[in-house]
This record gives sequence, C-alpha cells and structure tokens, in this order.
Amino acid sequence: MKKTSICANGTAIKLYEYVEDFYLVSKPANTALKQLRKGLPTWVSSNTYHKMNISLWIYDDTAVNAFSCHYNQKHYIALSIGLLSAFWEEANNFINQENLSLIFHLSENKKSHYINFLYFYMLNFTVAHEFGHIVHGHLTGKKNGHYIEELLRITTDTNSEERKCQNWLTQLKEYDADSFAASIQTILFLQSWSDDTKINLASFDLMFITNYLCFRIFAEKTGRNFDEYLTKDIDEYDHPHPGIRMYYSFIHYFYWIGKFHEFNQDTIDILISGSDIVTRYEHIVLQKKALQKCYYSIAFTEKGAQHLMNLHNGWENLVEYYRHHSYIPIEKMEQINEMPILNFYKAHIKESTENER
Ligand SMILES: [Zn+2]
Repeated sequence: MKKTSICANGTAIKLYEYVEDFYLVSKPANTALKQLRKGLPTWVSSNTYHKMNISLWIYDDTAVNAFSCHYNQKHYIALSIGLLSAFWEEANNFINQENLSLIFHLSENKKSHYINFLYFYMLNFTVAHEFGHIVHGHLTGKKNGHYIEELLRITTDTNSEERKCQNWLTQLKEYDADSFAASIQTILFLQSWSDDTKINLASFDLMFITNYLCFRIFAEKTGRNFDEYLTKDIDEYDHPHPGIRMYYSFIHYFYWIGKFHEFNQDTIDILISGSDIVTRYEHIVLQKKALQKCYYSIAFTEKGAQHLMNLHNGWENLVEYYRHHSYIPIEKMEQINEMPILNFYKAHIKESTENER
C-alpha cells in the first residue's frame, strides 16, 4: 500500500492509499476508492489532468472531514476514516429504515445493491467537490490558502466583519465546487441512461437523495448548526445551509442534464421527481412537520431564494479572478435578480403536504 506525508494547514498528515483491514468500513471503502481512482482522470482532458498532478488518499482521523491541498507542486484530495465510516453508516441506515417503504419500493434482495450505489455516489460527489476546488483554482492565488477542508474551525482571532467576509468567500467557493461536482454526477447519471423513463427517474431520485444525505452529514457532523438559519445573517455561516446546497444543486442538475442531454420535458420530469422524493422523504418518512426542521423545504422561502441569488451573483463577480488560476475555462453567466422557481416550489410543497393529510 502506498503511503506519503504532507504538510497541510501547518500540520504534518500521513496519507494512505487504502483503509487498513481492521477498520469495519475497510471493504466497502476500499472497493469504492478503487472505482473513484479510475474515474478521476476522466473528469478533465489528459493534458489538464497531468498538469494538475492530483491524487486521492485517505487519512486516519475519526472526525468527519475531507480536504484538498496544494503541497510541493502536487495536489492532494484526502478523505478521513470518519467520513468514510459516517457515509457507510448513513447509506445503511437510509436503506434499512422502516418507513422508507412509504415512498420507495425496494425489494429485500436488492438492498445491498442500493446501499453500495448510495455510498459510491456520496463519495463520488465529495471527491468531485474537492476536485472542483482544485480545478477551478480555489487553492492558488493571493485570495486563497493552499488548503480547503470541510470541517468547521472556529477562529477567535478575527473581528466579526472580517470573519463574515471570510465566511462569504468560503461559501462562494463551496457553491462553485458543488456546481462542478453536480456536473460530474450528471455525467455518471447520463452514462446509465435508459430508454425506460421509469429507470431514469428512479436513478435520478437516488442520486438526488445522495446529495441530501451528503449535505446533511456535512452540516450535522462537521460542527455546524443551522437551527437559527431563518433569523441569522447568511454570512454568519462559513458553508451554505444544506437546503440551499440542495436548491442550487437542483438548478445545476437541470443545467447540466439539459446541456449534455436535452432541455425537454423528460429533463423537467426527472428534476421534479428528484425534488419530490426529497420533499416526501422529509415530510413522510422523517415526519418533519415544522418548516425549520425541513432542510429542503426551508430553502424554498424568500430568504432561501435571496441567499441563492447572492451566491450566484457573488460567484459571478469572482469568475474573472478565478479564471486566472483555473485549470479549465470557467463559464461566466448573467447576474440574476429574481428566482422564478420560488412560486412553483411554494405550490409544490403545499400540494405534497396536503396529499399527506
Ligand atoms: Zn468544499
């Protein structure tokens, strides 16, 4: 097994190619790691991949974390054992929960297949997110450190305005890395495209649920508390609220599926189905009735729409800067001043809540 040591964020970290056998998660994690390493070089041209000098590792830490780092002219993506274990536990708990049959009909003998599917997609999204930080130049340039991690680090040495400014810059980079990851997930989804619409709907539903589970774990297990999201300023947080991450992922999936496939009714139906399953999961399976408790629905409020617009517009203002550090072209888009999807969603949530009664 390959091993190496790097200095990341001022600390020496030992990196390993695979998880040692004595960890419970070693078998599924090592199978997934092998598959992920095969995918990595296909995400950009071979010339760009070579220039990026990138490799994927794991490290021995029980905290749920992942990071990307630039060290000695090389790029590293690393996943903690804590993250590999938390995702495995979440995939198992999700598929085996009793009430899931209220929204999903899974045959008993296919359960392990679905668990592996969710696990792989969760890890693939995370690795693609870290890859996004690197490929779009978030780690280089004056504005940046050489290290980005997903764990929350409380800093006490900055004043509140400075901290909010740093938080906002971090949120914008997270937004952009999530967008890149959505493009990679879309390619995977389209590779398994079927002539049977039902199969496409079901595989998108699972993939969209994967995002939900990822963002929930990142919110709940990395030390962030979004309970007061509705009353706090959006730049009080260093990562976007999980529902906001779902909301813009919804739009990014629509954009990428439309761009790589087609902007037609099929694409709209796929998106609506995925969105519907997450709404129904929170309302029916988890029985979350209060809006504040629903990560997904809370994003479709005026605050959520405003937050999303600020992220989109804020990132567009930075595109010019990051273009100078990016390994691939970054698309520049128009500024937006309204979110028309909001009203559609209000009606959609109302309808799905009424259907439960
Ligand atoms: Zn990130």
